[in-house]
Amino acid sequence: MEFIIKSKALYTTWVFYKPERVLFDAGEGVSYVLGNKIYGIEKIFLTHSHVDHIAGLWGIINTRNNAMGSRNKKLEIYYPKGSKDIVEYLGFIEKMNKGLRYPLEIHELSLSEIVPLNSKRFLKPFKTRHTPGEISFGYQILEKRKRLKPMYRDYPQDVIKDLIVNQKKDILEEYVANILTITGDALPISPEFIKNCDTLIHECTFFDESDRKIRNHTSLPELKKLIKVEPPRRLIVYHVSSRYNRQINKVKNELNLEFPHIEIEIVHPERVTKI
Ligand SMILES: [Zn+2]
Ligand SMILES: [Zn+2]
Repeated sequence: MEFIIKSKALYTTWVFYKPERVLFDAGEGVSYVLGNKIYGIEKIFLTHSHVDHIAGLWGIINTRNNAMGSRNKKLEIYYPKGSKDIVEYLGFIEKMNKGLRYPLEIHELSLSEIVPLNSKRFLKPFKTRHTPGEISFGYQILEKRKRLKPMYRDYPQDVIKDLIVNQKKDILEEYVANILTITGDALPISPEFIKNCDTLIHECTFFDESDRKIRNHTSLPELKKLIKVEPPRRLIVYHVSSRYNRQINKVKNELNLEFPHIEIEIVHPERVTKI
């Protein structure tokens, strides 16, 4: 299992990405649902300050201090630079939870920064368009990898081996693989952030464009347009409005027919989804 996700537009959204022990957003109920798994979280990345994405932070911080588990493990929280409401909310939580038994580190993240995750992977923020006047970030998890330089790709295996072992030739090049891109609440993101993307987690609050009164969330036609331009290997659709609860399967089947080469999941607003 890679992901545990709860996402119901307006109510709560959080995504636990187990391989990197990262939590994206911390909507209401996150510590209640994850239980002892909250000790597995090392870093929390917040996308923006709306209550359905941050209300569960206080619960996580407080529960980690008091529940049974490794109480001395460090917790890091990252938020978009300039998000005044998040700063205030974190200030309040710190005031209410003086004398924490574990180190709590709070980092303001600017767009030029990267955050190392493990030996090879790192996280990079990018700007999204959501609510005017409200700073919002999406995030990419990237990994440095090596592959054969294009001119050597058709060589047989034994020749490659000889070039490396005996001739000590430098036939490899470094490249950056896009492991995961997650949007938070946003209008469709720019295709540049999902080039050769393995897993894209994109919000789609509205299946029907006519239900959207203000243009600050993605609609299904817009999301389809994006993945036609830059198809990921896997698409996880989240932040769906619960008005579509009965249409989830139908829409999933339609997407599967239209995009047979993309693995598609839709996070049901009423369920905790494990992928
Ligand atoms: Zn939201
Ligand atoms: Zn929002």
